[in-house]
Amino acid sequence: MEPIKRLCPVCRDTELQFYKRMRLTGEGEDFLTGPEWLLVDVYLCPRCRRIELYAPMTPLEEFEATPEFHSDVEKFEWNFKDYSDKKLQKVIDGKDYVDDAKRAAKNLLMRRKYGEH
Ligand SMILES: [Zn+2]
Repeated sequence: MEPIKRLCPVCRDTELQFYKRMRLTGEGEDFLTGPEWLLVDVYLCPRCRRIELYAPMTPLEEFEATPEFHSDVEKFEWNFKDYSDKKLQKVIDGKDYVDDAKRAAKNLLMRRKYGEH
């Protein structure tokens, strides 16, 4: 799952940091409805230490939030974006990857080295 960029409602210009997805439990358990809990994404503000809770996206919403790709290279770039530099280098050097995957890994490495713009 992909943490969403959110700004602190107090500081306004500070980006909240995703902490973790966890269960928010109610007090006790209701034998009719089962355990009371809610899945929440916890975000922290590094400046004022405010905690914000958000309900995670449903799988359908998550699918719809995935960007449209214009090429296979773009798609690979999206899939590789959380890879470390080392892992990207492995894709480039590896024999098991198709050319588009290698190209995407190269693009990501170059962008990290020389900046996004
Ligand atoms: Zn804040």
